[in-house]
Amino acid sequence: MDMIDPFGRSISYLRVSVTDRCDFRCTYCMAEDMAFLPKKDLLSLEELDRLCTVFIEKGVKKLRLTGGEPLVRKNVMHLIRQLSRHLGSGALEELTLTTNGSQLSRFAAELADCGVKRINVSLDTLDPDKFHAITRWGHLAKVMEGIDAAQAAGLHIKINAVALKGFNDTEIPEILRWANGRGMDLTVIETMPMGEIDADRTDQYLPLSLLRANLERQFTLTDIPFKTGGPARYVDVAETGGKLGFITPMTHNFCESCNRVRLTCTGTLYMCLGQEDAADLRAPLRTSEGNELLSNAIDEAIGRKPKGHDFIIDRRTNRPSVSRHMSVTGG
Ligand code: SAM
Repeated sequence: MDMIDPFGRSISYLRVSVTDRCDFRCTYCMAEDMAFLPKKDLLSLEELDRLCTVFIEKGVKKLRLTGGEPLVRKNVMHLIRQLSRHLGSGALEELTLTTNGSQLSRFAAELADCGVKRINVSLDTLDPDKFHAITRWGHLAKVMEGIDAAQAAGLHIKINAVALKGFNDTEIPEILRWANGRGMDLTVIETMPMGEIDADRTDQYLPLSLLRANLERQFTLTDIPFKTGGPARYVDVAETGGKLGFITPMTHNFCESCNRVRLTCTGTLYMCLGQEDAADLRAPLRTSEGNELLSNAIDEAIGRKPKGHDFIIDRRTNRPSVSRHMSVTGG
């Protein structure tokens, strides 16, 4: 039953973008004036549950809800509660989400109650003014409240920060001390050329090899084999006693160990974050009540998962490698 792609990689990790909408407009992620999907095009929560369940039956062990902002999807907790039955049955090993933290103070306790153990919170700066500038609409205090609530509920948090030249490169040491000091790991991410934004990505792009060299002036970093099922490569940080992860889609792609596929809120399956090819699962989902058509469509899609992505950010390639924004497929 396992899903194996043409390169022998076993697909055990599904990321689901439950909405393309977000209450932030991070400048490296979205244009200010975004056109979102009409509500009628979205799969219902029941349909999303059915799709996820078929993936779990086909070998998915780790499910991450993302977006857009997953916690702004109406009644998303109903979906999470439903999906948690697969944790109870042992079919699913981990149910988690990536969030901007803005709604966490409302939902943290319920997430923990549903069996969610760890979440990723995206946070690119600890300075309230810079935070408002980068998110265009966000308030740092609200996110901090959310982080407090999540820790109080017993959720483990990993902080994700996109490394941006001239914005947070000099602040990463402080973010690392703060995160590790609160018992949270930090992962830094290279910005990827996805979708048109109102800025030039060449100005923002910071290779993490450079960031690591700078960090090594202040911290003792030791490579460790630690893995969370995602693409980050981790180091131990002697001075903080915590961990720091590097996600390097630009300088060192990690496609050879890719175990992931991504489902959008309209039922489109992307087999690679960095390629345009996709498979429509909504038609087979809606055509029949049984899951055979759907299962066949998933097999067919996995059968053409590409070897990898080839993101480029430079002055000569002045356009995104893929036209869709990260908010469509989720991080
Ligand atoms: N709203 C949620 C959040 O903020 O985490 C989930 C969706 S968001 C698209 C997921 C992650 O993708 C965030 O950590 C965000 O910073 C990151 N991201 C967005 N656009 C990106 C880009 N072009 N390159 C790299 N990371 C990006």
